[in-house]
Amino acid sequence: MTTLDEKLEPILTQVLQRNAGEPEFHQAVREVFESLGRVVAKHPDYLQDGLFERICEPERQIIFRVPWTDDKGQVHINRGFRVQFNSALGPYKGGIRFHPSVNLGIIKFLGFEQTFKNALTGMPIGGGKGGSDFNPRGRSDGEIMRFCQSFMTELHRHIGEYTDVPAGDIGVGGREIGYMFGQYKRLTNRYEAGVLTGKGLAYGGSRARKEATGYGATYFVQHMLGRKGTSFEGKRTVVSGSGNVAIYTIEKVHSFGGKVIACSDSSGYVVDEAGIDLELLKDVKEVRRARISDYAKARGKSATYVEGGCIWDVPCDVAMPSATQNELTGKDAQTLVKNGVIAVGEGANMPSTPDAVRVFQQAGVSFAPGKAANAGGVATSALEMQQNASRDSWTFDETEQRLSDIMRNIHDACADTAEMYGAPGDYVLGANITGFVRVADAMRALGVV
Ligand code: NDP
Repeated sequence: MTTLDEKLEPILTQVLQRNAGEPEFHQAVREVFESLGRVVAKHPDYLQDGLFERICEPERQIIFRVPWTDDKGQVHINRGFRVQFNSALGPYKGGIRFHPSVNLGIIKFLGFEQTFKNALTGMPIGGGKGGSDFNPRGRSDGEIMRFCQSFMTELHRHIGEYTDVPAGDIGVGGREIGYMFGQYKRLTNRYEAGVLTGKGLAYGGSRARKEATGYGATYFVQHMLGRKGTSFEGKRTVVSGSGNVAIYTIEKVHSFGGKVIACSDSSGYVVDEAGIDLELLKDVKEVRRARISDYAKARGKSATYVEGGCIWDVPCDVAMPSATQNELTGKDAQTLVKNGVIAVGEGANMPSTPDAVRVFQQAGVSFAPGKAANAGGVATSALEMQQNASRDSWTFDETEQRLSDIMRNIHDACADTAEMYGAPGDYVLGANITGFVRVADAMRALGVV
């Protein structure tokens, strides 16, 4: 358990004042700072040259108007964001989120987290994030295309293979990346494949990118369970969400012999004691773009749909929150602990509140923070950039093998760092310190910029 170091306290206070009204950003910065007391105690030189202040200040923040016309001819105005947080290790890299809750503070929290996550992958990528408060739910293909084109009409000025490389996130999958890449190509008159990742296989995408975040999170938890002398074999697992990350987490957990018995969307959750039927789930969510309640209807007797309920009430051995930020509270964590959870792996970004993390750590539950556990997505995006740069295309197995190696390295780096700093088993501390040191060392080498 960690508290804030007194030397870091005034810096955090200033960050909170300068970024008023951005609670998710405050939460993300505080969580990282709480892990760094042991670093500044050992290496006080990190406090020089405003390093901490600079690391909390995005290099550039872009906010723009996104006008588009719906199928009835009505004009809508959304707001677009791109926060280019830190480029010490490479071009800015991070997804684009389309969700009505998107605002500057949320994009900044995601960009801040992304900076350390990308450092953890060991690949040459800086941190950034973008998005819009556009709600894709219920929109036709034509409306989605027109929105993506309008979004890219502004964004294209700010991105590029060597500058900033966006990818998908909530509400942005292969279809949206395709429309955005098409517009980028048209506007720039360049086939610059490395400008976006998460592309379709037909035009420069990487095999295993779609699967990478969920598979990667599952690899991470498998290693974590391994340190406890166990594995996924026979474990009842609950995965929240039913989007990209959740679906491929379920697939990998099943391949490791675990049984996923519940998943959800923002309307409710489904319990399927026979184990989630992945083909049906993919059909409902990826093909029909329907609701999780439709899964329960189609599945029949083994599945029960609970409208508006809390998925963390479902007893399980392993929990993998894979929907959105702050979806698992302290109270939910207590319920999970009471029901015997032994490991929690975050597929989503910051899905557990600070209270929840405290409950897990105090109860001795192995806890994998998102910035480490879900780094497989961006790592495979970096592999996609490598393939684009070399005009090459690797097989699924080769790409997945690299992903698996990267996840083992991230797991071991977090575990070893936590041990080195006197907190064995604390993956939050291990991830934050490892990511910070890599970014900070590069920033110091580059001078005050
Ligand atoms: P998707 O859009 O594919 O799926 C998101 C899922 O979460 C949907 O089932 C959605 O339900 C649910 N959800 C979204 N918002 C809420 C909410 N407020 N309350 C409850 N459920 C919600 O997104 P991804 O799977 O790509 O992303 C999920 C998480 O993983 C995010 O935190 C993202 O930042 C993170 N992540 C994603 C990566 C990627 O490669 N895609 C990489 C690393 C992290 P509904 O359909 O009802 O909205």
